[in-house]
Amino acid sequence: MKAIFDERQWQHDPKHFMANGKMLPNPEQPQRIEVLKAGAEAAGCNFEAPKDAGLGPIAALHTAEYLAFLKNIYRRWQYIDGAGEEVIPNIHPANRRDSYPKSATGQSGYHQADTACPISKGTWEAAYWSAQSAVTGADLLLSGEQSAYVLSRPPGHHAFGDLAGGFCFLNNSGIAAERLRAAGKRPAIVDVDVHHGNGTQGIFYDRDDVLTVSIHADPDRFYPFFWGHAQERGAGRGLGYNLNLPLARRTDDVGFLKALDLALERVTLFGADVLVVALGLDASIDDPFQGLAVTQDGFAQIGSAMAGLGIPVLFVQEGGYLSDSLGINLTRCLSGYQAGYQAAV
Ligand code: ZN
Repeated sequence: MKAIFDERQWQHDPKHFMANGKMLPNPEQPQRIEVLKAGAEAAGCNFEAPKDAGLGPIAALHTAEYLAFLKNIYRRWQYIDGAGEEVIPNIHPANRRDSYPKSATGQSGYHQADTACPISKGTWEAAYWSAQSAVTGADLLLSGEQSAYVLSRPPGHHAFGDLAGGFCFLNNSGIAAERLRAAGKRPAIVDVDVHHGNGTQGIFYDRDDVLTVSIHADPDRFYPFFWGHAQERGAGRGLGYNLNLPLARRTDDVGFLKALDLALERVTLFGADVLVVALGLDASIDDPFQGLAVTQDGFAQIGSAMAGLGIPVLFVQEGGYLSDSLGINLTRCLSGYQAGYQAAV
């Protein structure tokens, strides 16, 4: 399986993460790259660098105003007297229609949903190349590959069109899906990250040309709290094209795979001809977030179930944090897919 990654993605190195009133080290560490790369290579992946498709595929989903913010805010932040080393918001508008201020602090609050997406010197460069990796991954499928793995890091599924959040800046899975749609495909996104893919849902919420499905820990008591509930089904033309499958905390393989069956049935009934998997590995029983309890065997079965659809699959990395099984879970998922694919042909 071909795999995509760009060395410039190392440049985002977030330091801070506020949890329950405490400033902690940020879990979205660059070291994840080494672990995930080794995990993918153990499943037979060969990495290559992405091409630069320019801003077009990114701006197809993200506002120019937001991209200007992301690109320039770190430099602007340096002019604030006594500012910290990272751009972290401390005030937020009550809704998106409130006025848009000139101030760097005000814009930080407008474009950053929470304190888990600090912006530092290399963030724009890393997020840009993470998104380009996703675009190149989509192009591989368009050129006839049956599957590909994209080591998108920083991840993307919490990023809305004009809003960063939860370690995410540019919505890599969504950008890949939109690239496929623009080329005439009918893509579905299935998000298996332990956290609801709120940014992806938000971007496609009123659209009927990209199906969005997310399986995640119930947001009643888990990040991102305000999105991911079963009653969120899409709006306008998009009504019925968004499916949320929230699961009780610590749900195991059996419960997760049951939800995945429902997800994949919806993908089939949508008539999808290509699948983008928003591949978070933090549903793992070993993940520090402790939301769900998927085992290594469970990840193999997730991969195998994806192959059962019989359509090309693009795996786009989302969450999954440092633990003893992070790399193994990726190996098992991609190997499970390949074994399932071989069995089907
Ligand atoms: Zn996650």
